[in-house]
Amino acid sequence: MRKTILFVLALIFSISLSFGQNWDWGGPIDPLQAKFKVLHYQLELEVIPVTKSIRGKNIITFEASEKLDTLRLNLIDEYKVEKVIMNGQELAFSTHDDLLDILPIDCTCNTVEVFYGGATPVALNPPWSGGFTWELDRFDNHWMGLSSQGEGAKIFMPALDHPSSEAQNGVDLYITVDKPYFVAANGRLLGKKETENQITYHWSTNYPINNYGINFTVGVFHEAKIDFNSISGEVIPMHVYVLQEDQAKAEELLEVLKISTGTHEKYFGAFPFPKDKIAVVETPYLGMEHQTINAYGNNFQFVPMGNVQYDWLLHHELGHEWFGNKMSVGDWADMWIHEGFTAYGDWLFYEEHGGPEAYLDQAASVLRTIPHVKPVVSPPNSTEEEAYHGEIYSKGAAVVHGLRGVLGDDIFFPMLKSFVSDDRFTYQNQVTTKNFIDFVQSYTGQDLSDFLNFYLKTTDLPELKVSKKGKSGYMVSLKGIEFTIPVEIETSKGMEKVILGSKPVLIPSSSEIKVDPKGWLMLKR
Ligand SMILES: [Zn+2]
Repeated sequence: MRKTILFVLALIFSISLSFGQNWDWGGPIDPLQAKFKVLHYQLELEVIPVTKSIRGKNIITFEASEKLDTLRLNLIDEYKVEKVIMNGQELAFSTHDDLLDILPIDCTCNTVEVFYGGATPVALNPPWSGGFTWELDRFDNHWMGLSSQGEGAKIFMPALDHPSSEAQNGVDLYITVDKPYFVAANGRLLGKKETENQITYHWSTNYPINNYGINFTVGVFHEAKIDFNSISGEVIPMHVYVLQEDQAKAEELLEVLKISTGTHEKYFGAFPFPKDKIAVVETPYLGMEHQTINAYGNNFQFVPMGNVQYDWLLHHELGHEWFGNKMSVGDWADMWIHEGFTAYGDWLFYEEHGGPEAYLDQAASVLRTIPHVKPVVSPPNSTEEEAYHGEIYSKGAAVVHGLRGVLGDDIFFPMLKSFVSDDRFTYQNQVTTKNFIDFVQSYTGQDLSDFLNFYLKTTDLPELKVSKKGKSGYMVSLKGIEFTIPVEIETSKGMEKVILGSKPVLIPSSSEIKVDPKGWLMLKR
């Protein structure tokens, strides 16, 4: 009985806890927030591990399409806003429902300073249920990691917290910690300012950045660095920051990072943020794609592949520098563009270092696990929670793999690089699924919109039907689709590519045929 009561209490507590922490984001943009764009955040914070709190201000530079009466920002109610200053004047404000409304505004200002602070939300299951993770390292030094993909920036700073909002001119982070702590953050370290007991680290990005990519990690770190020679010809600083206790692994981690960066560059093009850096920092949670300071918490579990070492977590998060950070979605409905292409980049590591067989084995093992229960693309204006599920990774990658099978390598690989290098969809611009489908058509001259929409927006599969037609061969069709797909078929005469649809096609062969023997396509077989 007592156990039952305790269980019920624990359940209620955990439900209320998770409700309190359910800071979803995305969905339809608030009409008040549709009226302005954020150009820059200057976040000045003191991080205080002993009280697990932060305190400071955010200076937000914005551009409004019309005169604003109310400036509406997002900031979780857990923080206390101390004052708001605009044009040198303290302004009235109200906080409610994780919103900060500043009103009335009687200037045509474009910057606002918000002073705030308080106890930080503690992450329940980072990085999936994010927040601040406060740990101690083996030497009892504080070690703090922040993750916010599912929650947005409002869990650590006042912001226009919507995926369509990226700080167009980047961020400057001035993070103050007690000595001897270090802060690893986005962009370049421009300076350090010391007082007797504290250090302020000034990090600055040279590129637009999405809200969940903005990040800082605090700890006592060992740093290893090299210069990375990019395929662009540029020399880019490459750093790893690991705990002191992992100092012996730093050089190997740097080597793994170098191999992964080179592999991504081969297929996705030059590293996208050469004026910043390539870096990972050891975090007390698994990982996240924070722009130019990827979170790494995979415990140095390198596995050999070909002649090199592979760390799936590091390679995956690094891939997001291209798909996720350089190319970002403005509606979580299209989140598969972040996860599907990046997961596909993971398979390309197998191809590059393990060979074509390793790639096809990896593809086959992922294709087998796809449940086909949720469409890869969610309805327009989805929230992060609505759009985030396993198939945006697995089936997203399988769609890209299928497209490769249809187009062939000579078209597919240049197209892939060209897509993620297109100014219309990168940096200050964002991308949609429709942009991708239209791009495929304009690049290849082939209309694959029915094929792509079918796999991305439905949970159906073409059903493969094969029947023997006397001695002449086999009748083959794909039931359940109203378009055609070029499919490889192995016959007695060798491999050929045949256009298949719902209408049966005679495939002459004196031996048993194998349809799509390499497994390019998701089919009901
Ligand atoms: Zn990912």
